[in-house]
Amino acid sequence: MKKNIRDIDIAGKKVIVRCDFNVPMKDGAITDDIRIRAALPTIEYLLEEGCALILMSHMGRPKGEPKMEYTLKPVADRLTELLARKVRFISSPTVVDDEVRKAAEDLKGGEVMLLENVRFVKGETDNDAGFAKALASLAEVFVNDAFGTAHRAHSSTAGIADYLPAVSGFLIEKEIRFLGDAMESPERPFVAIMGGAKVGDKIPVIENLMNKVDSLIIGGGMAYTFYKAMGYETGTSILDRDSVEIAAGIMKKAEETGVNLVLPLDCVCTEEFSNDSPYEVYDRDKIPADKMGMDIGPKTAELFESVLRDAKTVVWNGPMGVFEMENFAKGTYTIAKILAELDAVTVIGGGDSAAAVEQAGFADRMTHISTGGGASLEYLEGKVLPGIACLEEK
Ligand code: ADP
Ligand code: MG
Repeated sequence: MKKNIRDIDIAGKKVIVRCDFNVPMKDGAITDDIRIRAALPTIEYLLEEGCALILMSHMGRPKGEPKMEYTLKPVADRLTELLARKVRFISSPTVVDDEVRKAAEDLKGGEVMLLENVRFVKGETDNDAGFAKALASLAEVFVNDAFGTAHRAHSSTAGIADYLPAVSGFLIEKEIRFLGDAMESPERPFVAIMGGAKVGDKIPVIENLMNKVDSLIIGGGMAYTFYKAMGYETGTSILDRDSVEIAAGIMKKAEETGVNLVLPLDCVCTEEFSNDSPYEVYDRDKIPADKMGMDIGPKTAELFESVLRDAKTVVWNGPMGVFEMENFAKGTYTIAKILAELDAVTVIGGGDSAAAVEQAGFADRMTHISTGGGASLEYLEGKVLPGIACLEEK
């Protein structure tokens, strides 16, 4: 296990915290501050411990240049409101300069400052040691609480840990706990649900999960690539031609290893990729040549429910259909409801899957919804995440 802020003597220290303040903006205003609010437990804990806090984050893709449309000033203002204490902000094109160094030096316990967007500096994404050192020089301890960028080896997410004691904040701790436990020591039966658009995008995830799960459910657009491998007509459904053989290989491996691979039985089809296109349910071996599958059908939902009923751990990545269109969201919502009612650890990974569960209204009934799209996928692939690997072991 990795150390977190409770595991070290942090009281009264000067602490630099990598947060994920990559919030959506419109016309200079924050449109959704959930990521800022999510960071508060870690920040408030450290303030209660009397720490002096230097916060840092990236926002958008300024590509190594001080582009002011990506300034973190609005974040500092929002934080000032949420914390009900002044968050000092110095906008420096180099992020760390003499004024910033002086401010960090003068910062007292219980005070907070926010650095400018770390991606204003080109060295950040190159994991430049000079920039990492400059950031580290401001504080005594490094806390990483930005899971969304933990799969990137950047100066502010990993490099900085070469120069400071490094521990996780509460957000990263939670991600490690739920994703990590599900992957390393799941209570069984362990069922994974994979969906989304393409098999190709998720091959490493499927392959890693195959070694761990009791059942693997395949839904969404990736099912049609499996159908093709089974010799079925898939009409105009989304098809990942390059992955047909891989799908065949996955089916073969499941047979050899005894993993219960569960494929949909029926699907909701239309002529056009549109919510207004009339739809009908077809069995998987009867998809008309001029139609496309947009969602799982009712027989499939029943089959999936029968597999999920006894599950003790469920990891879900990828929607069951084109959930963005109301007429084809039903399969995804049904699965979300089943998970919400299960007496099991339920972990959702992937940006669209998280959005779908949220949209279905079941977000608060899942054990854990991972906040990092790319990072959670890499975790499910079994990869080592640099922003986590750099933290101290307990
Ligand atoms: P996540 O972000 O959770 O990892 P993906 O990005 O892999 O998920 O997949 C989400 C996308 O898959 C959604 O935009 C959804 O519309 C699409 N999708 C799901 N089922 C189908 C389908 N049958 N045909 C086309 N697209 C689909
Ligand atoms: Mg996605």
